[in-house]
Amino acid sequence: MRQIALYGKGGIGKSTTSANLSAAFAENGLDVMQIGCDPKHDSTRMLMHGRWIPTVLEQMYERKDLEMDDVIFTGFGGVRCVEAGGPEPGIGCAGRGIIATFQLLEKMKALNGDVVVYDVLGDVVCGGFAMPMRDGYAQEVYLVTSGELMSLYAANNICKAIARLSERSTARCRLGGVICNSKNMDNERELVAEFSRLIGSKMVQFVPRDKAVQAAEVNQMTVIEHAPASPQADVYRGLAKTILANDDLRIPTALDLDELEKLARAYL
Ligand code: ADP
Ligand code: SF4
Ligand code: MG
Repeated sequence: MRQIALYGKGGIGKSTTSANLSAAFAENGLDVMQIGCDPKHDSTRMLMHGRWIPTVLEQMYERKDLEMDDVIFTGFGGVRCVEAGGPEPGIGCAGRGIIATFQLLEKMKALNGDVVVYDVLGDVVCGGFAMPMRDGYAQEVYLVTSGELMSLYAANNICKAIARLSERSTARCRLGGVICNSKNMDNERELVAEFSRLIGSKMVQFVPRDKAVQAAEVNQMTVIEHAPASPQADVYRGLAKTILANDDLRIPTALDLDELEKLARAYL
């Protein structure tokens, strides 16, 4: 079983990329599970045709004897969808939802199939959000970033977390590569490719900014389902193929802030 995690800044396109990736894996006949690990809990919405599925945390607040059907929902292409969820605003720890979700899925023996895709917020890489990497779930991490400095900054912080966690025996996570989800900036492809090289990794896919994504979103579908013949759908299929073939997993070396800013200036 491959366990793949997409990490990146909020709003960068993790859920869009994760859902299309899961859909592309499913098209290839793979048994796929996608776990949303962002308190925003909208990771699987496009796979679920707009439905906000109940989160593991909210189900746990309500009942003790949860069954698989209470927290695992079947979406497009048979992808099994789970949302960890978040705490009530103002109380509790967001990372707790992630921990509780994994414990429950393990207890149910539901963490199986060919591929598990974890969609994880990377603005904070505290113990809670590092949990999928820390406890051996996410074995391959892909950073989702654009060429914007704050997005690279978040990706760089995730590199620091991977490097630190790789010193632990329980953490088997490595960096699989960088996905550039474009914001249509000048020299963005070159900038993100160079960032990837400097951290000791590689850019695995350049995903263009494309209105096919919005068209699919307003129709509550992934691009793979809504516009299967579009070039953007092929980009996501290409990403799925590259990830499946990728066995080049690295411990990254994060840049210091000065280096990161210098890099961003050089590609303006
Ligand atoms: P995240 O999960 O990282 O918070 P989302 O996947 O929800 O981000 O994406 C944020 C917004 O950006 C969404 O409205 C989505 O439609 C849009 N978006 C993401 N990737 C692309 C893309 N390649 N082209 C156009 N719009 C995109
Ligand atoms: Fe939980 Fe992380 Fe927030 Fe701390 S920073 S309360 S560990 S989510
Ligand atoms: Mg998201």
